[in-house]
Amino acid sequence: MASNLHFLMIPLMCPGHLIPMVDMAKIIAQHQVTVTIVITPRNAQRYGSVLDRAITSGLPIRVLKLPFPASESGLPDQCESFDDLPSFNLSKNFADACAKLQQPLEKLVGELNPTPNCIISDKHLAWTADVAEKHHIPWLSTHNLFVSKVHEKLADSDLFTVPGLPDKVVMTKSQLPELLNPGDNAKSKEMKMIIEHIRATESRAYGTLINSFEALEGRYVDEYKKLKQGKVWCIGPFSQSNENDLDKAQRGSRASINDHDYMKWLDSQRPGSVVYACFGSLTRLTPSQFIELALGLEESRFPFILALNRRNQAEEIEKWVAEDGFEERVKGRGVLVRGWAPQVLILSHPAVGAFLTHCGWNSTIEGLCAGVPMVTWPQFEDQFFNERVVVQVAGTGVAVGARTAVPYLAEEGAVGVQVKREDVCKAVKVIMVGGLEAEERREKAKYFKEMAKKAMKDDGSSKINLKLFIQDIMITHK
Ligand code: UDP
Repeated sequence: MASNLHFLMIPLMCPGHLIPMVDMAKIIAQHQVTVTIVITPRNAQRYGSVLDRAITSGLPIRVLKLPFPASESGLPDQCESFDDLPSFNLSKNFADACAKLQQPLEKLVGELNPTPNCIISDKHLAWTADVAEKHHIPWLSTHNLFVSKVHEKLADSDLFTVPGLPDKVVMTKSQLPELLNPGDNAKSKEMKMIIEHIRATESRAYGTLINSFEALEGRYVDEYKKLKQGKVWCIGPFSQSNENDLDKAQRGSRASINDHDYMKWLDSQRPGSVVYACFGSLTRLTPSQFIELALGLEESRFPFILALNRRNQAEEIEKWVAEDGFEERVKGRGVLVRGWAPQVLILSHPAVGAFLTHCGWNSTIEGLCAGVPMVTWPQFEDQFFNERVVVQVAGTGVAVGARTAVPYLAEEGAVGVQVKREDVCKAVKVIMVGGLEAEERREKAKYFKEMAKKAMKDDGSSKINLKLFIQDIMITHK
């Protein structure tokens, strides 16, 4: 249909953004559109296996590498992904390093043949919009649609109903992202300026691509379209592009399936009996909070997999694990995954019966695609909004009871323990044990799994929307 089109993609270098962008590249390339994706050398390594396989299978994808100016921006050598930062205090350095890619990118775009028909990038990389404008190419941002779209209109009270939404969504002010409810310190002000710049850039976008599907968020997308002159295309869930186990296993890491012994352990568990707990790529639970989580899972007596991401102050936590004898006690029933867990592979295993998640958007939608009920434990940014999508809009989750957003840079003493082991244990039991409500939740979860699959089929809403998007670019910018 669109064999002469060429789309350029520039992802933000952070797993929660790069992973879905790689998935999206594959999905778009399946429509005979040539996709060039620009990444840095270490990210090319990290995501290379999945991309190489897609290219070998015949998809018209090209990978171009731009060296990342890590050390000249005050970052450790080879630190090319946000989750590689030794401390989030270096966030600004990371943003500066990304912005230094503007000139090399401008040069690269000028040399590309054929010239891209559009640039798909991330609203956090606002300077990519400047590159697009310089070359007269339409710029599209990716967006995870969540209810915060109307946050500008919120009253300044502690508890409020988010206005203008198809559902009644009640939040507390302290659950808002730090950027909507910033403190007075210099860092918050600096971040606020960055975000205002991002927002202004977003308003220059030709259109928006959304990693969601109409059966889940159609009513929200319709509202959003009204704000964007219809140039909004809901074309997800992107994670559905990983059909084979190797692609699922290597999303965001190069590990092979055989590197994961616990996949064999999952084979030995009863269907729907295991709780999988993971907090994404950025969250750093404080050691005392991690201990409550671990003990809550233990107390629930359900088998579990707990992903202990290296961001979780690993040394102190490992010390506790060893001294407390936790791992020994839960042997055979609970598994600690150290480092990167192949999340989509784990979630697709029939033994998994619940997902305890921090509600990052990717994790949220991956949980919905897997058809598993969720225990929701949001931390920051959009995650409290996403929790409402799961618990209220989809009706497939139970909130663990997190009340306040945790600042990115939270120190042990500053936040303390927000969720106790009994809260974890209770929420897990509510989800896992029988009863009418639990059964209804499971039914709804199955429904959304089916709907997510259907959306990506040839006659599904997301496939149709993707074709409409490609046609739009063909008509307006070819
Ligand atoms: N992820 C994973 N294994 C891990 C941690 C994260 O596969 O151990 C993946 C997860 O499947 C998701 C992404 O990393 O696709 C995290 O994105 P999300 O939006 O959920 O959260 P963030 O990391 O941005 O907080």
